[in-house]
Amino acid sequence: MTIKTKGYAAKSATSPLTPFEFEYQDPAENEIQIEVEFCGICHSDIHQARDEWGGSIFPMVPGHEIVGKVKSLGSRVTKFKVGERVGVGCMVESCQTCGSCKESLEQYCEKGFTPTYNGLYRETKKPTKGGYATQIVVDQNFVLKIPDGLDPAGAAPLLCAGITTYSPMKFVGVSRGQKIGVLGLGGLGHMAVKLANSFGAEVTVLSGSPSKKDDAKRLGAQHFALTKNEDEMTKLENHFDLIIDTVAAKHDVNQALELLKRQGTLVMVGISDKPLDLGVFGLVMKRRKIMGSLIGGIRETQEMLDHCGKHKITSDVEVIKAAQINEAYERTVKGQVRYRFVIDSKSY
Ligand code: NAP
Ligand code: ZN
Repeated sequence: MTIKTKGYAAKSATSPLTPFEFEYQDPAENEIQIEVEFCGICHSDIHQARDEWGGSIFPMVPGHEIVGKVKSLGSRVTKFKVGERVGVGCMVESCQTCGSCKESLEQYCEKGFTPTYNGLYRETKKPTKGGYATQIVVDQNFVLKIPDGLDPAGAAPLLCAGITTYSPMKFVGVSRGQKIGVLGLGGLGHMAVKLANSFGAEVTVLSGSPSKKDDAKRLGAQHFALTKNEDEMTKLENHFDLIIDTVAAKHDVNQALELLKRQGTLVMVGISDKPLDLGVFGLVMKRRKIMGSLIGGIRETQEMLDHCGKHKITSDVEVIKAAQINEAYERTVKGQVRYRFVIDSKSY
């Protein structure tokens, strides 16, 4: 049997997303069929639908911030029940045998993980299709449990924006009273603010948009500074233990480095399509560090969801219909998202 699925796809890097129908096979023994309720729009969807990172596969059904309900189960699925609310993030397969996978760092799988969309299944080499759709069929090892009590639309962005900001904070070891800067207040940035706040850190939003000042405070930041304002930046030099850089385009990382204390860390999570210019002095003079971080492993993603369940953390979302996806892309690129667009799957 096949599962008929409706969704939206980009047919090429320059075409708008349009309605698209495709099919899944019934779940194999380790797979789960999920009826998608909501899917967030991540800036990575836009980068890939427009082939800004190269190598995109078309037609592309984007979407890796998926929340839905279990519809049917393969015969060997033991961890999930029909009707249960679940999530799927950025990965649907990994080798499960390499050192990274054994540590549940599947995002760093040494053979390469299979992305939820814009990838090829390891065995069949068929293209994967994401969450801008009514259904998805996924290996149970890549399905997460959504804690009861979390709004499903607000929980969807946790599957990428949430884990991508949670993971480096855990890795670096954010603790109470530490000074954390969040560079860029979009989808990832607003989750970074909420999560850093839940760890008891003192949070400053570093933004290019004066209009986001009130939101920054409402989201839980104690301070707000404009990256364009030199006086404000000078006052914050040598200030932060950690800065999470979520900016989705080329920008001045050297400015951010100067804001770090001695031995402070700049974590790059935003992925500019163009190389950034790094001045070595900013690193050397204060033994500062710069690192990157990619989403998070499955075990840590579940830990993050449980943390959000406990602290009642969800994303601030604007729920849209499928027909509004292209407009939402434009608004996201212009920095006008407040703070994540989420597609209602009933609208396909
Ligand atoms: P978003 O909602 O569009 O937010 C990005 C924010 O960056 C904007 O709201 C804006 O905030 C700031 N910005 C400043 N200059 C910009 C410019 N020229 N173009 C675009 N944004 C600019 O994007 P997102 O979904 O949070 O994603 C952010 C980046 O992280 C993207 O590159 C995405 O691909 C990447 N990403 C990485 C991972 C990972 O695993 N590392 C996971 C998901 C996404 P202000 O107005 O406050 O300046
Ligand atoms: Zn994403």
